[in-house]
Amino acid sequence: MPAPAPNEPALNLSPSPGDEVRTTTCYMCACRCGIKVWTTDGRIRYIQGNPAHPVNQGVLCAKGAAGIMQHYSPARLSRPLLRVGERGSGEFREIGWDEALRIAADWLRPIRERNPDELAFFTGRDQSQALTGWWAQQFGTINYAAHGGFCSVNMAAGGLYTLGGSFWEFGEPDWAHTRYLMLWGVAEDHDSNPLKLGLGRLKERGAKIVAINPVRSGYGAIADEWIGIRPGTDGLFAFALIHELLRSDHVDLDYLVRYADAHWLVIRDPGGAQDGLFARDDEGRPLCAARADRPSAFRDESPSSASGHEGWRLAPADATDISPLVVGEYTLADGRTAVPVFQLMAERYLDPQYSPDAVSERCGIPAATIRRIARELAAAAFEHPVRLPVAWTDAWGREHDEMLGRPVAMHAMRGISAHSNGFHTCRALHVLQLLLGAVDTPGSFRFQPPYPKPVPPPNRPGKARRADGSLDAPPLGFVHAPEDLLVDARGEPRRIDHAFSWSYPLSAHGMLHTVIRNAHAGDPYPIDTLMLFMANMSWNSAMNTGETMRWLTDKRDDGGYRIPHVIYSDAYASEMVAYADLVLPDTTYLERFDAISLLDRPISDADGAADAIRHPVFDPATQADGDGRPRDVRGFQSVLLDLGARLGLPGMADAAGGPIYRGYADYIVRHERAPGVGLLAGWRGDGAQHGKGAPNPGQLQRYIDNGGYWREEIPEHARYFKMANRGYLQWAQGKGFLGAGDAIALQLYAEPLQRFRLAAQGHGAHVPPPRHRARVETYFDPLPLWYEPFEGVQSDAAQDDASAVPARAGVRRPVATEPMDPGLRRDDGVPHTHPFPLHAITQRPMFMYHAWGSQNAWLRQIAARNWLYLHPDTGAKYGIGDEDWVEVASHHGSITVQAKFAGNVQPDTVWTWNAIGKRRGAWKLAKDAPEAEHGFLLNHLISDRTPRGDYANADPVTGQAAWFDLRVNLRPAAAACTQPQFAPLPGAAHDDRPLRYGAPQRQRNRGARTR
Ligand code: SF4
Repeated sequence: MPAPAPNEPALNLSPSPGDEVRTTTCYMCACRCGIKVWTTDGRIRYIQGNPAHPVNQGVLCAKGAAGIMQHYSPARLSRPLLRVGERGSGEFREIGWDEALRIAADWLRPIRERNPDELAFFTGRDQSQALTGWWAQQFGTINYAAHGGFCSVNMAAGGLYTLGGSFWEFGEPDWAHTRYLMLWGVAEDHDSNPLKLGLGRLKERGAKIVAINPVRSGYGAIADEWIGIRPGTDGLFAFALIHELLRSDHVDLDYLVRYADAHWLVIRDPGGAQDGLFARDDEGRPLCAARADRPSAFRDESPSSASGHEGWRLAPADATDISPLVVGEYTLADGRTAVPVFQLMAERYLDPQYSPDAVSERCGIPAATIRRIARELAAAAFEHPVRLPVAWTDAWGREHDEMLGRPVAMHAMRGISAHSNGFHTCRALHVLQLLLGAVDTPGSFRFQPPYPKPVPPPNRPGKARRADGSLDAPPLGFVHAPEDLLVDARGEPRRIDHAFSWSYPLSAHGMLHTVIRNAHAGDPYPIDTLMLFMANMSWNSAMNTGETMRWLTDKRDDGGYRIPHVIYSDAYASEMVAYADLVLPDTTYLERFDAISLLDRPISDADGAADAIRHPVFDPATQADGDGRPRDVRGFQSVLLDLGARLGLPGMADAAGGPIYRGYADYIVRHERAPGVGLLAGWRGDGAQHGKGAPNPGQLQRYIDNGGYWREEIPEHARYFKMANRGYLQWAQGKGFLGAGDAIALQLYAEPLQRFRLAAQGHGAHVPPPRHRARVETYFDPLPLWYEPFEGVQSDAAQDDASAVPARAGVRRPVATEPMDPGLRRDDGVPHTHPFPLHAITQRPMFMYHAWGSQNAWLRQIAARNWLYLHPDTGAKYGIGDEDWVEVASHHGSITVQAKFAGNVQPDTVWTWNAIGKRRGAWKLAKDAPEAEHGFLLNHLISDRTPRGDYANADPVTGQAAWFDLRVNLRPAAAACTQPQFAPLPGAAHDDRPLRYGAPQRQRNRGARTR
């Protein structure tokens, strides 16, 4: 630094933000950015993005910076609590950890001895599912799940049953080469900073960004084009694009037969037991029809005849040196007919019902726009291919001297998946990508390791118990066929949430949204204990919120609660705390070890595998609560391991009954899921092994020394075509990501779904009970389909065959309105007036993450309440002015809220921010806090059942909660605060003092002594 000029003071232009710094991982949203936490005098001074971290490269968002106020939140829980009043009253007494753990063990021990399934263990925004799922497995309960069932399991399942990977956080656009990005239903959550960084790169390069979303906010606001689609019609739009690409012959057939199943033959034998399954050889290999004039290294199975193609023969579909045929009809040696998958696709999607003109009105998108987008996709993919001069070898040993890619990328999230037609919509998007040859090629969507996995992933859900009482496999997994379901001999559900039953067969993430109703009803059996972690189920994480509170507090005739015990762990005084019998206070994210594991939800990117840790910046005992008392809290993961040892669970207690692990940090280091495979992949064995290796006692220190994360680059020749790149497959196998190095065939046609359809037709040993057969047969279509979301149909007697939509007591029946949904017309063409003509959806704001963020002192300064946003034209139609109060009614209930005009919304849709509304008295906010007075939840309007009442309000394939199917009506109302209001929760008094965090340090920096 140059010497200051005479009479100029010496200025330190780069003062240190604090005295000490620790690098760890943010937990203010699901993104898991690297952060540097600066402290002075034992208090946080500043949180900074870690420039070296692979996820965020130094970028920090408002939430991440506000982690300071999260750590110092007055809502933090301080000690274990035991209920002393009625459940729901919020009356507790503080107890010590020994008593808390003894009580929990006393409740759980007899369950495990009697029937482990009487424990339902469900977690919310848990980032430690590799532990919690394993703990449930060791306990022996099948009733375990995390929150994916009400978040975006359609996205995960749609991807994993098609590509072996998915959008969510398991893949990314090729930011360096993409020319055209479509963002489908993406709000500002999940993968937040990587998306922001990537979008910035696309903007620099002039790539086109198209946002498909009923609301234009966040990423959509910077998109080059916004397509304000009607909720629930994304699949229809995708099919129209597919229709146009097929019609104009803009399809990458080379890609489709190399890496996908376009040429695989499907048996066409209506009524037969194998109708719709792939034709296979004696060794089970799928077959295709190939031109006879090309030699093959594989056994020839001569066919008897073919329609449309002379000189063909059967060949294994993965054979090289063949010319597969993708259209036509072929006769197999046994006389049955078979057609290639591509032929089936062409038959379906070239149908005029999927033309732009046919879908335009229903989607709310002009047909000309659909045609133009299809042309733009085709131009980007086929007129501007990306060629990387990188030599690589494919899984079959063929050498390539370059990587050819289609620079069209897609990213999608909850907006398309949280519908009752979401699974098929997610599959439709993947089919669209595949037709363009735009999966894991330069410029397209790319897998992040450990993905892709085999399609579908091989791990089935655990069903049976071993001799030591543990389950034979983790409770969650992937169903391949009816025999994998968790149903009893009568075909009825075995799980309390009915996941993996005939009602929701592919519910890979379980169904958190059904567990409380079913536990209350004893359906299919009563449970003893409901254990929840970070799941605000009595408020913003529940549909049918009012009833959920009642179910939690309802009693049997003998005076006992219908759900006898509720154990809850959270770091904060959420609305759910009052409904627990035993509260186990968690730490903040700066007070414990965590593993961001490749066994769970990794932080990899497309060019490298990565995982990370959190490690304590503070000992919670040194972090006083609002009353100045030291907090006595423990990380829930360590509590689980302690509890497991007390219960003598296998893998947690040694032969003498003592604990095997000293806590979660010890478990992270020493636990092996398979030989050499643990929660963290970095620095295993002697510290030089990565991926697989013996436990390394020094592993956590290596992570700390490296800034809290580990990352290993994929070799350059292995970074694309991961599903069929020998270099990648061998690298992934070496790291333990894949069991074998075989190529992974991407699946346009989902054969597992056809197995369910055949069962519904009566074939096989496992068939659905009669009442489910039509449903399974309809929705288990192996090619993606579109259907009207259930709520829109069933809440309208004129459309619903069953037509008897029960009017609930106190629910205002809708008044007739002008038709707002022109796609809904009667057969005679007369516009139909839907009783609930508007769609209603929530979006998560960029600046908050669930209910946690909306109690944060700094983030509340951005928004302390939400509004019902509607288009001014919609307001005019309903006689509603800007900031007027409105009554919003669904088939299920009504709320009164304040409206605000916004031009960034499709006119048939109203929307609001998610999880800002709070119950009075919760989160230690003032009882007249704006969040409670003017904030609100749409959840009160959302039923947990379909209007017809026969199934959960969910996707029939995966059980994904259909939050965004909500249909509403509006009318002006007079009010001064939102309705409904619930009795204020008691809890400790609100502390009005400002939450200061830096004054002492600032004064010290000025040379003053303070206290
Ligand atoms: S995007 Fe999420 S993880 Fe990253 S800094 Fe923001 S809140 Fe933290």
